Amino acid sequence: MSVSTVAVAQSVCAPLPVLGRDVTVPLVTGGEVSYAALDYAASAPALQRVWDDVAAYAPYYGSVHRGAGYLSQLSTDLFENARTTVAEFLDCRPDDQVVFTRSTTDSLNLLATALPAGCQVFVFETEHHAALLPWQDTHVTVLDAPRSPEQAVRTLERALGDRDPHDSPALVCVTGASNVTGELWPVRELARAAHAHGARIVLDAAQLAPHHPVSVRDLGVDWVAFSGHKLYAPFGSGVLAGRADWLREAGPYLAGGGASRKVARRADGGVDVEWHESVARHEAGSPNVIGAYSIASACKALTEAGFEALVDREQHLIRRVREGLAEVPGVRVLSLFGEDAPRVGVISFVVEDWNSSHFAAALSAEYGIGVRDGLFCAHPLVRVLLGGDRRAQGECGASAEAAIRVSFGAGTPEEHVDRFIRAVAELVRSGAKWTYRTESGRCVLVR
Ligand code: PLP
Repeated sequence: MSVSTVAVAQSVCAPLPVLGRDVTVPLVTGGEVSYAALDYAASAPALQRVWDDVAAYAPYYGSVHRGAGYLSQLSTDLFENARTTVAEFLDCRPDDQVVFTRSTTDSLNLLATALPAGCQVFVFETEHHAALLPWQDTHVTVLDAPRSPEQAVRTLERALGDRDPHDSPALVCVTGASNVTGELWPVRELARAAHAHGARIVLDAAQLAPHHPVSVRDLGVDWVAFSGHKLYAPFGSGVLAGRADWLREAGPYLAGGGASRKVARRADGGVDVEWHESVARHEAGSPNVIGAYSIASACKALTEAGFEALVDREQHLIRRVREGLAEVPGVRVLSLFGEDAPRVGVISFVVEDWNSSHFAAALSAEYGIGVRDGLFCAHPLVRVLLGGDRRAQGECGASAEAAIRVSFGAGTPEEHVDRFIRAVAELVRSGAKWTYRTESGRCVLVR
């Protein structure tokens, strides 16, 4: 080990304890290994701290906003305190609201139903489908993929410049960190451009919040959305936080109990409803108190662990993976903004002469490494990145358009990324040891 490696290793904090760290999986070639979960971008493992907090609360579980009993009161307090914790975690403004949803997808769909009449939406083609698709019923402008952060700002300014700021309202939806390249987007600059043209902006922080502190105030965004299951809290909740006005003026996202303050039968047989004006307006039905509580627990755990130290650690792992991949012949890492772009621990790549599904299947079956292959719910972006590049005929047939994605975070031990790099190098050098075939478009083991 070189002196500089020792210095780096000493300065890097330990991974946070997560569930599943002791799980072993069988290898098709015989024996077992500890499972290397390198698909954090899809769903991250639960933090041990989150699991422990949920387990400690579970006996006290009760209905929220509905019961007179002690446990209902306690659960209601827990749920409402979770809002405050999330607002602090996101550094929200005093008037911002935190709405608990099911996920980022749900949060952005909620916002889509709350757009004022005539609202124009601007979104880059590079977005995850959760951010690209909810606006289909509105006037949506899809912007071309930029090849640098500066070009992203220029593209948005040009698009917004065509409209009169006194015109109808407008919303920009942008990701904080790409779920394909991991690259950070210039959110602060895009927010400034949006506001200069009288538009608002919502940040899709699904991939940013688990890897990087997010300050709504500092970034100047109007809303932020993220998912608990990517933030080490896989209990079915997400968040939409930000300005209250559009949400207050919109009809309830779901109609039902909890969202309604007063309901009365009319003489003509119909029903009159008075909807809540607060966050309850968009949280109809029984709230997922465990989901909300687990997110709050994860927010506290990341903050208390020292988010900056976790960022440093992740940057160390990113360097290891990128340097390792750069040494393997035939591997091409996908990037929109180039080598030096700041990024989180999400890296996609293709391997010459390999079908991506075959490669990912072999990593799992022969090395116990879980990654993802495909287009990652960002089809237009991956097509731009592949540039029409088609892989040659491999064992699982001609490659469809697809890449391989490795992603990691606060719970990832260094050994997992090192094993991943060794496995990639060995697969490229020596090929797969097992036989695979295609079944329903996916590469599977031949048993
Ligand atoms: N936005 C980004 C950038 C994502 O990566 C994802 C999920 O992968 C989503 C939105 C959607 O998140 P969810 O599936 O939790 O709704």
